[in-house]
Amino acid sequence: MDKKFIFVTGGVLSGLGKGIAAAAIGALLEAKGLRVTLQKLDPYLNIDPGTLSPFEHGEVYVTDDGCETDLDLGHYERFTHVCTSVDNNYTTGRIYNNVITKERRGDYLGNTVQVVPHITDEIKEAVKSAAKDQYDVVIVEIGGTVGDIESLPFLEAIRRFRYDVGRENVLYVHLTLVPYIKAAGELKSKPTQHSVKELREIGIQPDILLCRSEMPLSQDVKRKIAMHCNLDDYAVVAAIDVDTVYEVPIWFRSEGLDRQIEKKLHLNLPQADLRVWEDVVRKIKMPRQETVIAIVGKYIGLKDAYKSLSEALLHGGIANDARVVVQWVDSEEIEKKGVENLLAEVDGILVPGGFGNRGIEGKIMAARYAREKKIPYFGICLGMQIAVIEFSRNVCGLSANSEEFDPEAKDKVIYLMENWYNHRTGMIEQRNKDSQMGGTMRLGAYPCVLKEGSRAMAAYGTRELSERHRHRYEFNNLYRDLLVSQGIEITGLSPDGQLVEIIEIKDHPWFLGCQFHPEFKSKPIEPHPLFRAFIEASIKEKRSLFK
Ligand code: GLN
Repeated sequence: MDKKFIFVTGGVLSGLGKGIAAAAIGALLEAKGLRVTLQKLDPYLNIDPGTLSPFEHGEVYVTDDGCETDLDLGHYERFTHVCTSVDNNYTTGRIYNNVITKERRGDYLGNTVQVVPHITDEIKEAVKSAAKDQYDVVIVEIGGTVGDIESLPFLEAIRRFRYDVGRENVLYVHLTLVPYIKAAGELKSKPTQHSVKELREIGIQPDILLCRSEMPLSQDVKRKIAMHCNLDDYAVVAAIDVDTVYEVPIWFRSEGLDRQIEKKLHLNLPQADLRVWEDVVRKIKMPRQETVIAIVGKYIGLKDAYKSLSEALLHGGIANDARVVVQWVDSEEIEKKGVENLLAEVDGILVPGGFGNRGIEGKIMAARYAREKKIPYFGICLGMQIAVIEFSRNVCGLSANSEEFDPEAKDKVIYLMENWYNHRTGMIEQRNKDSQMGGTMRLGAYPCVLKEGSRAMAAYGTRELSERHRHRYEFNNLYRDLLVSQGIEITGLSPDGQLVEIIEIKDHPWFLGCQFHPEFKSKPIEPHPLFRAFIEASIKEKRSLFK
């Protein structure tokens, strides 16, 4: 079978859930036996999202090969079996950077270098780089909204792409909004018509429309949209608001989207088997029990800053047949109001990853409270470092801090390890103290070896694992013996024993900190072992008023 390409564009306004729609199409096609990969093309000038504030852009998602990417790649990995990499996310900045590098090298042999065809060709190459042999279908999501100046080169490139790989191998899916206007009591199709008109002006006739709406679209509404947009009725698919995003593949199948895709791509596939997704949805909608988890963080104003984390907690709930009620707690509030006032009624405390000084003391207070009151504690990356600082101060009596927060601290229990052995490259790497850029970070998947009999080992059920990292600072080995003698257990290490990857506290129901980000690898159909175990412990130690 020829490789198939599905391009997903968005219209009317942003935030309609293009990433989820693309990922759900991926899940639906996997359920029909196809091997699927997904790619995001982002029309902004940053080379990658690594430097973007999570306040503005949501979380930075990290891949196995150490790329800092758009959070939509997290949706792709949660909905399908794809393992994303550097080839799955391109930005305008990266495309231009490639073209300019080639120009400086003299690759264009004296030609004038232009947006068309040089930038558009580079975009087509980017799409092809994701189309590895093992995949049958490549789903490409174009960021932004049709009509934006920035997306034009991408749209022109995907228009041209059809000529390269053949008409029958390319499908254009356009996601729009069909708003319900209360005063008129009507669903309005005009914004969709305009958006499609705009797409057609630049030469792309969508094959399928996904119409976001609050309610199902009647056959009449679909017919009207189809008529105006030059489509047949069945190609207009309602994408209604559902209770959980994991219901979207099921909804798409009930709308016949898979049959439309098959028809338009000349495929003949078996029925989609969505039983695993049905099971996930049932567990989310009808859990047996509840538990309350506090996430003590800094970016709590924008939930997308912790997208993978909140999904992983949900998955931990699925694994325990429980609803996880998340309480977002601003660590600066803890400093102001006192820890007891904010955390007295939660079953588990989670301190997630983060950078910079703000709210650090509040997080340390939260870790202390969890340790002393025997509340399950899960520290992720910064959250592990916080637990180490807290223990060093309050149990070992050190003047402890992380070099990140106080370069002059007497006991830098968390510090910048200037030379470290990189298990991925097999080389000694050096960190440059003065650089704030991603180059100084430990990024991507690294191996970890667990201690027999540990909580981590009980959760994973295996001794060796690989997890993704994104941090600059490490546990300082000078303090290892002291901390261990006072009750910290080091239960996960890099294979050479030099990098502390997991710490636990013995005399406690469940207290674990990991230097990596387990949330990036959790899926609803394969909940992450540490999240499963943390939620299980929180249910057992229940203090909240929920049933
Ligand atoms: N700021 C810490 C570091 O750089 C932790 C980073 C994180 O939590 N991702 O090591």
